[in-house]
Amino acid sequence: MKILVLSHFDQKIGPTPFVCIPEGVNKDTLAQIADLINLYQNKAFFIHNVKGLKTANSLFQMINQKARASTEILLISIVLTEGDINTDVARDMLNTFIEEMKGITDIQAIFDHQSKAHDKAMVALKDLFTNFYNALPVEEVVQNRKDAKIFVFGLSKAGKTTIIRQLQNAKSKDTIPTTNVSMSRVHLNNMSLFVYDTPGQVKFRPLWAPYLKSQDALVFVFDVTDKDNYDNARALLHEVSNMETVKDLPLLILLNKVDIVLPDLDHVKKVLDIDNLEGNIHKIFLTSATTNKGIVESFNWLSSELLRTKDFIEPLAVSEDVSDCVIFSRWDELEGIEILSVYPENRVSDPELIAIRCLSIAEFIFGGQSFSEKVSFVLPIAHLKVRAAIYYDFIADKSVRGGKLPLSLVALFKEDTAEGIIEKAKPVMESGFEKMKNSIKDREQLRKILREIYEVLFTSKKAGEVEGKKSKPKGVSNNLNEFFKKF
Ligand code: GDP
Ligand code: MG
Repeated sequence: MKILVLSHFDQKIGPTPFVCIPEGVNKDTLAQIADLINLYQNKAFFIHNVKGLKTANSLFQMINQKARASTEILLISIVLTEGDINTDVARDMLNTFIEEMKGITDIQAIFDHQSKAHDKAMVALKDLFTNFYNALPVEEVVQNRKDAKIFVFGLSKAGKTTIIRQLQNAKSKDTIPTTNVSMSRVHLNNMSLFVYDTPGQVKFRPLWAPYLKSQDALVFVFDVTDKDNYDNARALLHEVSNMETVKDLPLLILLNKVDIVLPDLDHVKKVLDIDNLEGNIHKIFLTSATTNKGIVESFNWLSSELLRTKDFIEPLAVSEDVSDCVIFSRWDELEGIEILSVYPENRVSDPELIAIRCLSIAEFIFGGQSFSEKVSFVLPIAHLKVRAAIYYDFIADKSVRGGKLPLSLVALFKEDTAEGIIEKAKPVMESGFEKMKNSIKDREQLRKILREIYEVLFTSKKAGEVEGKKSKPKGVSNNLNEFFKKF
């Protein structure tokens, strides 16, 4: 079960629950969640267990001239009764909620019953809150999922719900109904497909973005009869499928309602600008959700694509071989992590996730404190089967809070890599890091330096293995000498 709570710091009574779904949650529990405001005063995002419940929380502020120091302090919390919270996804979702909430007109009026704008702002907030709650899939926030997840999208009335219903009928005995109308599970070909019937309303589209971080495939449903909305449909297709987190996933395109009109395929391809879909492996099927034409065939294609490309027994990050890779990123309190360069580019599907993990594991080890000075260390990251050599430093940057922009360079070694090899890598990374600090705006240059680092760290090691000898440090140090000459 999931609970969503918005709390705030009331000037007179302190931390107070403000809105909650579902209703009827124990008052003491709610009060304890609101009290986290006191406990985590300065922290933006945190995980905390309350009475055996898992909570993911984000503290944030809002300007309100009538409040003390002109700021309201608020806390948005996702509460789960079971499972472990996936911090990356939860953090993103909460941030999205906060952004949307801050965008509501006269939002500060929710705290002022006298204000004319109060009722309207309250309705808008509750509307957003309810939509967020309904759209919030527990399966997304909980870790260690094993099912393939399919993101189904398309304009309203394209036929998404009808298609999902058809799939469920086809395999009704395997269907697991979920409480949320916009979500359903479908079993097909021994695989569990998790289907989001995304709401078509444009207004809530930003709320989808976090889900897209952990999907395995996309399904776009297009209504061939809805000629007035062809442009909107194309825009939606390209907007979603080009997003960084999904752009390599298999994409199934369903031209639906062909029982009404049989479209000219070449024309539709032009209309949807199919030629310019980058990255995704895609396939187009003509379907009719009402007569069931093409539905099973199209999803069979998708499941065979999924079986070909993914291993669903383990969570994604574990099955992926992420070693022999270098990642250079910047950290911003507001924007979160941003990958500046990664080499080789296609080695890891989600370098952000790895960079964040390295950072949070390191923070944890260093006593939960943010780094305030230059540090370097090697960390075993067991679930990724790697040892990460991490460099962390700042450069001056007036545009970020505190005037310091944190940068990190992470090199991922196979977990059985000899200590000596990682030791030898340190000066290489350090000098490369120094050089990248000075080229922060020049992506081309960053890539070049990162590639050089990669070559010294990893390609010579590979050569050693080819010769049948285990990772000879000697080869590396020769390469190191070469490398130093460049700097
Ligand atoms: P959603 O908003 O994308 O979930 O669309 P729905 O599944 O609710 O479908 C919208 C309307 O289109 C409903 O009245 C469906 O019965 C109808 N519909 C969906 N698919 C087809 C189809 O293939 N052929 C015809 N003729 N009608 C369809
Ligand atoms: Mg629907």
